[in-house]
Formats: sequence, C-alpha cells, structure tokens
Amino acid sequence: MNKDKIWLSSPHMGGNELNYINEAFAENWIAPLGPNVTGFENDIKDYLISGTSGEVEVAALSSGTAALHLALILLGVERGDEVLCQSMTFAASANPITYLGATPVFIDSEADTLNLCPEQLEIAIKDRMSQGKKLKAIIAVHLYGMPYKIDEVRIIADKYGIPVVEDSAESLGSTYKGINCGTFGDFSILSFNGNKIITTSGGGALITKNIDSKKKAIFLATQARDEAPHYQHSEIGYNYRLSNISAGIGRGQMEVLDKRVKGRRDMFQFYVNLFRDIAGVRVFEEPTEDYFSNHWLTIIKVDENETGGVSREDLRNCMDLENIECRPLWKPMHMQPVFKDKPYYGTGIAEEMFKNGLCLPSGSNLLNKDRERIAQTILNCLKK
Ligand SMILES: *Cc1c(COP(=O)(O)O)cnc(C)c1O
Repeated sequence: MNKDKIWLSSPHMGGNELNYINEAFAENWIAPLGPNVTGFENDIKDYLISGTSGEVEVAALSSGTAALHLALILLGVERGDEVLCQSMTFAASANPITYLGATPVFIDSEADTLNLCPEQLEIAIKDRMSQGKKLKAIIAVHLYGMPYKIDEVRIIADKYGIPVVEDSAESLGSTYKGINCGTFGDFSILSFNGNKIITTSGGGALITKNIDSKKKAIFLATQARDEAPHYQHSEIGYNYRLSNISAGIGRGQMEVLDKRVKGRRDMFQFYVNLFRDIAGVRVFEEPTEDYFSNHWLTIIKVDENETGGVSREDLRNCMDLENIECRPLWKPMHMQPVFKDKPYYGTGIAEEMFKNGLCLPSGSNLLNKDRERIAQTILNCLKK
C-alpha cells in the first residue's frame, strides 16, 4: 500500500513564483523593499477591492502575527487595556495583545461558524465595562476560511464604539454577501505562512482603510526611522517588512489564488459526499448563502453516540496509522496553560468542538489516489 504522507495542508506553487524571484536576483533586489513588494501589495489590493465599494490599502509584512501586532499598536492598545478575542483560534491571534501589556478577554464560539459568538461578546463587553475596564479592540477570526457573523459583530462593535481587528489569516478568497474577507475590519490581517491557502514561505499583510494608516504601519515596520540623512528615531520601531524575494513567491501565488480556492472547495465537496450517508459525522458547511468559505480546511464533528462508538480520537488514530495527517481543532485560548488566568465568557461550545472536532486533509494539491486512500481509511474506521 502507498504510505506516502498525506498532509493536512501543504504549499502548492503555481509555476511563476521562480520567475519573479529570478527577476529579483537579476536586478539585485534582494533587500527588503523592491518591485515585488509593491507588485504583491497591488495584486492583493486589486483582489480585495473587486466587488467592494470601500477603499483598502495593503502593507506587506513578515508575518500575520506582525500585522496583528501593528494593528493593535495603531489602535492605541497599551498596558492595562483589554482586548476581546475569539477563544477558539491559533495563539497568534491573541499573543500580540500581551506584547503590548494588555489583557486578552476570551469569548466563546457560536455553533454555526464556530467563530466569535455575538451574544457572549456583548455579555463580556457589558461586564468588563461595568468593572471600569478599557476595551480597545475586538479580534474576530474567520476560522478555517468560514466568515464569522460579520453583521452581528459589527452592530455590537459600533454600539459600544470598539474597533474590530479582522483576523483573515485563514480566509483569503472567502466572501460574505459577495464582499471579500480581509476588508471588514477597521484593520484586517492576512497570513502567507507555509500552510495557508497561498504562501510566501512566511509572510503576512496588514489591510488598512486609508493611506495614512498604511504609511504609519510601514514606518513602524521599518524601525520607525525619522526623515533625516542620519539614523534618527523618535518612536520604537520593528523589523516587520516582507522581503522582495518572499514577495516574488507571493506574486506567483496570487496568480493562482482562485484555482487554490477552487481546489480546497473541491476537497470540501469530496468530504460532503463521503459523509452524506454516514451517521454521526457533521461536515461544517456555510450556514446560509451569504457565506462563501475558501474551505482552507474542511472540519467535521464526530458524535460517538451516533457513529456506533467511534470517537474523534479513534478516527484521528485510524488516519494516523495510514500516515494521513488530521488535527483536532484549535485548542481554545482560555484552555491554554499560558492564558489560564485570563477572563473568559462562554457556554462551552469551543470546548466541545475541541473535544469532538477534526480538521481533515484539505490541500489543493491532493490527487485522486490520495482521496481514495482517505475515503477508504475513513470508511474502514467508521464501519468497525
Ligand atoms: C496563521 C495564523 C495567524 C498568524 O499568521 P503568521 O503569518 O503565521 O504569523 C494568525 N491567526 C490565525 C487564525 C492564523 O491561522
């Protein structure tokens, strides 16, 4: 039997990436900055504003985490402030809050998209405000590519005057009511880490609403250097800019983004068909037609009372034995040792999904023979 590893999500080059890198070498643009950086920013901007009325500006950075850090700085988050953050997410959504000495307040998921629960969000806001806390931002995540409840979260954010940082690291290519994810936040971020829907091997972007915020972000990302012939600094800066080499990979990847979205969505459809007649496994689909997910990862929930006793862990172990990578959903931040003392508001939905949810191999580069192996393994496991 073919036991090559089947990965959860692996890089998928389009072909043109090397041409952009070769150009950079030919012109000796190896330093951060250069034509690929500007070109990559323009490519992302053109992609994001198609179908939108709003203006966006794009700053290419060294990671999605750096973009979140800068977003919080631009929102004035300081020591002693609080930032509301979806609990079920990757730690990178929450870590930058602590870089600034602020406190994360974690919020449960709702059951439809598994993202920020609007009800618990409002409960938390009222409670924190009644304790006199300064709430500086809401970090909402489109987990696994599925848009969060954008309208509901926006209404609450506006009601209490708290800006939204949209963590779109997993959702480039997803839309809500036809509008691109990455354009809904007061600030939004993208990630081009190796396992995301497109990659620059490592990289990210901050999406701002105007050119002044973009300029300020780039100023901070390039060591906050004042305009002077010598090196002069009036503020603390960071080294967060994307390199011209990485941006070259990004330019090639943007050319195939729509194909990658289609590839991931095809994998999702494969799983929908596979599980259609299997009791006890729910595939997470778009809750209404307003939602369009890039299905970066397809996720399922296993109910062992209905599968005849096969649990999520049983299924994960079956796959592991066949060298097929699957992973539990993100462990909620309020359950993480490092955040165990931080405030949390919820009813246990994220906890339940952490226990029974599974991410399935979803790469756009999986072959028919991989799908057959995945299907066989799943069917064998659930028939036991
Ligand atoms: C990947 C990811 C990030 C961080 O992006 P990096 O580019 O790896 O720093 C942030 N939030 C979420 C939800 C992510 O999946």
